[in-house]
Amino acid sequence: MLTKAVESRELRDTAASPDIAGGASGTPLAAHKVIIIGGGIAGLACGCYLQMNGYKTEILEANPVPGGLCVAWDRGPYVFDGCLRWLVGTNPSSSLYRIWTELGAIGGRQIVEHGEFMRVEGADGQVLSLTSDLDRLARDLKRIAPEDSTLIDSLVRAARRCAPLDPLEKPLELMSGLEKTKLLVRCFPILLTIARWKNREFGAYLAAYRSPFLRQALMALVGDARMSALVLVMVLGWRSRKIAGYLAGGSRAFVNAIAGRYTGLGGVLRCDARAAGVIVENGRATGVRCADGTTFPATTVVSCADGRTTLFKMLEGRYLTRQLRYAYNHCEVFPALFQASLGVNRVFPEAPRDLSLQLSRPLIVDKTTRHDRLEVAVFGCDSGLCPAGKSILIVRFVGSFSYWSKLKQEQPGDYAFAKHKLLQEIVGILDQRFPGLASHVEHTDLATPATFERFTGNWEGSIQGWLPTPRVLGRRLPRTLPGLKDFYMAGHWVEPGGGLPWAALSGKYAAQMICARDKKVFVPTAA
Ligand SMILES: Cc1cc2nc3c(=O)[nH]c(=O)nc-3n(C[C@H](O)[C@H](O)[C@H](O)COP(=O)(O)OP(=O)(O)OC[C@H]3O[C@@H](n4cnc5c(N)ncnc54)[C@H](O)[C@@H]3O)c2cc1C
Repeated sequence: MLTKAVESRELRDTAASPDIAGGASGTPLAAHKVIIIGGGIAGLACGCYLQMNGYKTEILEANPVPGGLCVAWDRGPYVFDGCLRWLVGTNPSSSLYRIWTELGAIGGRQIVEHGEFMRVEGADGQVLSLTSDLDRLARDLKRIAPEDSTLIDSLVRAARRCAPLDPLEKPLELMSGLEKTKLLVRCFPILLTIARWKNREFGAYLAAYRSPFLRQALMALVGDARMSALVLVMVLGWRSRKIAGYLAGGSRAFVNAIAGRYTGLGGVLRCDARAAGVIVENGRATGVRCADGTTFPATTVVSCADGRTTLFKMLEGRYLTRQLRYAYNHCEVFPALFQASLGVNRVFPEAPRDLSLQLSRPLIVDKTTRHDRLEVAVFGCDSGLCPAGKSILIVRFVGSFSYWSKLKQEQPGDYAFAKHKLLQEIVGILDQRFPGLASHVEHTDLATPATFERFTGNWEGSIQGWLPTPRVLGRRLPRTLPGLKDFYMAGHWVEPGGGLPWAALSGKYAAQMICARDKKVFVPTAA
């Protein structure tokens, strides 16, 4: 259920406090109008922070509901969650917690910490629990792979060293020389560790392990051999700090809370409004033109929609830098996913929340994709997604975006049949692992890479923007464009690595930059 506030397609500004003067071109703040394209987490966060600082804002969201990739849908009594499995920043010891608090995102909901954050099962009955306690984790890893003890020790050491890393309070663009020097001094002790792990490709790192089962387990945790090995270090570090829990109610409750905060601050959320172009006059963004011909004048435009669509379609490729061309021509994107969701009329008290399952025969997804393992998440009623006595099983795996989107477009009947077959096969696989499951399945659903692309417009159905490879991780993409004033970009396409916290942070950073442009002190407020 949407919050009452968001149910209304247009919500008028009722509580803005535009009592501040000043602005880029001498415009009083009360007369400023910021149009934000995209009501995903980045757009909502940007809107909230600008409203907190006295700006009038309006979010144009193409879908009937806000949230973008952070989405859930109903099937009978089950809520199939298309996103949230873990949220970095669920503990007050993380600086991200403050952001979630300011955005009203957590709002008293239960935070579930899974000490065992993944269980990995091998072909010959081997089982490995991946736990957030690093001492225990090291012991368990060494138990199954004593021959890899040196590598395990160095991994755990790096996770301990990097665990305290928190994101910057403000974007680098707004930091003074002194602030940058202080940051460098603070990070100096771990810079070498970061550099060493960041520049190593995960697949190459993994190849050094002698235990095949441990290689499989670590791969299950990271998911893609092309990523930087630092991703593994950070995942273990955040888990050890217990700052990456699960928020009961999942994606829908999370998004509705932030959307409610936004409209409560006086923001206008306009759903079913698809932006087609940014209006530019005399080198300034002065509004947004929607697909239905409606125009929205603005003194500032922030795009939190897909990066490629923004740069190449809405701005017709007129403001590209060498860096942007390079990124969009050469850098890899997070692969698109399939999500099979099952609503099951029974509980699985022995099942872990996240399970990596070895398959007895590979799952053939398409001509170029087959899997020997599947990741299965099991949600009970404590997740807030299903009633007592029932469970939801979510299986996610990678597949070819081009194959499935072409099939959907050109042969919709075959697409529907292929989906049905895949879903049947997954039910069969799960029935082997959880005997009797198939006869208790009440609702099923399969979202393909084409579904994620259709729903959010993310390039190639990417679930998190850029893939954090050694080349990309830690780099920034420009938030502003040369030759175009009063225009900003936010979202996971400007923060490589992506994910909910970085989407929110990028929205906050855009708001901070707008305040700085207007010589206004940025003041966030708690919800
Ligand atoms: C299956 C899955 C699981 C995930 N699990 C996690 C997790 O457990 N933890 C985590 O931290 N992250 C997770 N993520 C990643 C996270 O969901 C994303 O990184 C984050 O939501 C991106 O937010 P965003 O606002 O940058 O982009 P988006 O969510 O893509 O938002 C962009 C918005 O812009 C809108 N839009 C696009 N074009 C237009 C237009 N022309 N006009 C108007 N509006 C437009 C879209 O409809 C969308 O609402 C997951 C993602 C997926 C798909």
